[in-house]
Amino acid sequence: MSRITVEKLSKSYGAVKVLKEIDLDIVDGELIVFVGPSGCGKSTLLRQIAGLDRPTSGEIRIDGKRVNDVPAADRGLAMVFQSYALYPHMSVRQNLAFGLENAKMPRAEIDQRIAEAARMLEIGKLLERRPGQLSGGQRQRVAIGRAIVRNPTAFLLDEPLSNLDAELRISTRAEIAALHARLKATMVYVTHDQVEAMTLAHRIVVLRDGRIEQVGTPLDLYNRPANLFVAGFIGAPRMNFLPARLEPGADGNGTLKIAGGPALALPAGTSPASAEADVTLGIRPQHLKPADAGSRGIPAQVTLVEALGSETVVHTLMEGGQRLLVVLEGQHRVAVGDRLTLRPDMAQAHVFGEDGKRVN
Ligand code: ADP
Ligand code: MG
Repeated sequence: MSRITVEKLSKSYGAVKVLKEIDLDIVDGELIVFVGPSGCGKSTLLRQIAGLDRPTSGEIRIDGKRVNDVPAADRGLAMVFQSYALYPHMSVRQNLAFGLENAKMPRAEIDQRIAEAARMLEIGKLLERRPGQLSGGQRQRVAIGRAIVRNPTAFLLDEPLSNLDAELRISTRAEIAALHARLKATMVYVTHDQVEAMTLAHRIVVLRDGRIEQVGTPLDLYNRPANLFVAGFIGAPRMNFLPARLEPGADGNGTLKIAGGPALALPAGTSPASAEADVTLGIRPQHLKPADAGSRGIPAQVTLVEALGSETVVHTLMEGGQRLLVVLEGQHRVAVGDRLTLRPDMAQAHVFGEDGKRVN
């Protein structure tokens, strides 16, 4: 059992506020991912939970018990870092055993735990090697193994894949997901990579500048980003943002007039303001389709075409000079200089008010 609750947690270093009143409830057994740009406070938040650092104010509870004053070693959590932090002069087996020996665990139980972790992570053949004789991926597995043998109530992982090359990152990511499915332990996973967050998480916590911007399942965040920041951060390539004027209609159905484009019907669910308002229309590159010339849509000229085989990424400029990125499924005959009429799928459109908050 391990439910981790964070309440009004703040952390300052001197005059610099790094975490600002974080409230978060981590459910027992879930794989929750903290994501956000570098420097937003992800590691700091994880370190407060781990007990490696003390919060300036607020409370951390594990299974309902306040742990602010409980030392890291007694919180029952195991942390895995980006830098594997393995002892270079010890064999893999010794690295795995070290913490358990320090805790005076009987030899037989240590051996059994190591055997179990080695089987789970397929590192049985590496046990007598030193870290220097391992690949990056193998070292990362040993680092995870060292957490597993402690049989923690929760795992805290801080950018564990950042040192791996792209291919290994994808396979190790899948291993972590499989491991979580087997162990069913609470995992808190930190990354700056939104794709990693999307593929691993049950729930994602988007952080920015020491605050939580939104918490939700990957598809919650993709389908209904709460604000411009989350909309721009989740999803690749990035969502297009178009300045627009919201014009209320007679019987509740208004229109969106985009600069350099036509008036579009409001997406379902938009509460038409009683007065006109400046808004931002958010439309993902995948939700724009070329329409027949002369039909209603956004006129744009192609500036670059990236034919990736499975999809075609088309860079365009609107008449007002605004960039508009389009991703078409499959292969298309589009060339630089072509004039397109692009029709946004308004059912998938996002509208944000002047304060950046979602209004549809
Ligand atoms: P992230 O992990 O999201 O990249 P961090 O949590 O490491 O970000 O850091 C958040 C901010 O706090 C950064 O601006 C960083 O410089 C600052 N910071 C982190 N640790 C310390 C410290 N010990 N002293 C002063 N500032 C710190
Ligand atoms: Mg960090």
